[in-house]
Amino acid sequence: MDKAVVVIAESEHGELTLASLECVEEGREVADRLDAKVQAILCGSGVTPLAETLAAHGADRVTVVEHEALAQFSADGWLQALAPVLLQAHPALLLAPDSGPARAWLPRLAVRWRLPLVGCCMRISIVGDGYPEVIRHTYGGACQERLVWPYATLICAMLTPGVRGIDAPRHGRAAEVAVVRPELDPARFRDRTLRTLPADPRTVPLSEAERIVSGGFGTGGPDGMALIKQLADQIGAALGGTRVAADRGWLAAERFIGSTGQIVAPKLYMAFGVSGAGQHLSGITGSETVIAVNSDRTAPMLKRADLGIVGDLHQILPILLSKLRALAVTDASSNSGEPAAPTDSSVVHRTLEMTP
Ligand SMILES: Cc1cc2nc3c(=O)[nH]c(=O)nc-3n(C[C@H](O)[C@H](O)[C@H](O)COP(=O)(O)OP(=O)(O)OC[C@H]3O[C@@H](n4cnc5c(N)ncnc54)[C@H](O)[C@@H]3O)c2cc1C
Repeated sequence: MDKAVVVIAESEHGELTLASLECVEEGREVADRLDAKVQAILCGSGVTPLAETLAAHGADRVTVVEHEALAQFSADGWLQALAPVLLQAHPALLLAPDSGPARAWLPRLAVRWRLPLVGCCMRISIVGDGYPEVIRHTYGGACQERLVWPYATLICAMLTPGVRGIDAPRHGRAAEVAVVRPELDPARFRDRTLRTLPADPRTVPLSEAERIVSGGFGTGGPDGMALIKQLADQIGAALGGTRVAADRGWLAAERFIGSTGQIVAPKLYMAFGVSGAGQHLSGITGSETVIAVNSDRTAPMLKRADLGIVGDLHQILPILLSKLRALAVTDASSNSGEPAAPTDSSVVHRTLEMTP
C-alpha cells in the first residue's frame, strides 16, 4: 500500500472549509517530500460532490464517509465513523484543521491511539530521514516553537486556519473517490449538534471572519474606533485593528491582528489609519481584497492595498457611512422583506467610487 498523508476535511453549509483546503495543500507538499499520496477523508451527509474540490487542491484519493446521522457534527459520531476508516488508511501523517469540531473529537482518537496531537500549527514539513517537523505558535502567539518527532511513527497535526492561505484550484485534476457508508447508531451519540447558526460577525473569531474592518493608531482614539465599528456593523464585518490600538485600550486585546495577534484571511480587509508595519501585514497575507485609507501616501499599508485611498479617515468615514446607510434604505425599500444590510462586498466597492 502507498504511503499516505491523510487529511481530515470538514464542510460547513454544503461547502468545504477554507481551513480544510489549506490542510490538503499543506498535505500535498509534505506528501511530495515523502513520496506519498494525499488521502482526504470527508465526513457528512450529501458531501460526495465536494470530492472534486479536494482533488483540485491536491488530493490523490478522497474517501467520503456518508451517513444521515453525520449531517450535523457529533464528536461521538465522527469518532465512530472515522476511526475505522483512518485505521485502514495507514497514515504516515494525519492533518486536520485546528477547528472547533476537530478539537472536540480528535483528542479522543489521539488518546485511544496514543498519538501525539499538536494544535496551533503554522507549518508542517519533513526533516532528516523522514521525521515530521512542526512550527507552531504558542503563548497566545507571542512565541513560535519548532517540534521534531524523531521516534514517532505517526503524529496528528492541526493547522491554524488562515496562516497558509490557498492557491488557485487545478480544475480537472482527478482523484480516486471511494464512498463509505458506515453502520452507525446515532442513539449512542452522547453529543449532537441541533443546528448551526450563521456566525455573528461581531463575535465571530477573526480567523473565520469573511470581512474585517480594522482601525489603527491613526483613528486617534475611542471616538475614531467607534466610527470604525459603525462601518463594521453596517457591512456585517468583524472589528479588528493593530496592536498599538489594542495596547491603548481602544480595541479588545484578542482582536488585534498580526504576527503576535490574530492571523486572518477574510475576503475583504479594510484598514483605516493603519501604517502597515511588517508585524501587522504578516497577519493579513491570506486576505483576498484589501482596502486602505491613510493620510500618508508613503504608508506601506497603501502599497499592500488593492484599493488605497490617501486621505483623512475622519472625513472619509462619515461620508462612506452615510452613503452606505442611504444604499441600505434604498435596498430595503426595493426588496421589502429582504434584509437591508448589504450581503456582499460589491456595495462597498460601489460606494468607494465617491470623492470625499
Ligand atoms: C515584537 C513585536 C511584535 C508586534 N506584533 C504586532 C502585531 O501582531 N500586530 C500589530 O498590528 N503590530 C504589532 N507590532 C507593532 C508594530 O510594529 C507597529 O508598531 C504597529 O502595527 C503600528 O500600529 P498602527 O499602524 O496602528 O500605528 P502607526 O504605525 O502609528 O500608524 C498610524 C497610521 O495612521 C495614519 N494616520 C494618522 N492619522 C490619520 C488620519 N486622520 N486618517 C488616515 N490615516 C491616518 C498614519 O499615516 C500612519 O500610517 C509589534 C511590534 C513588535 C516590536
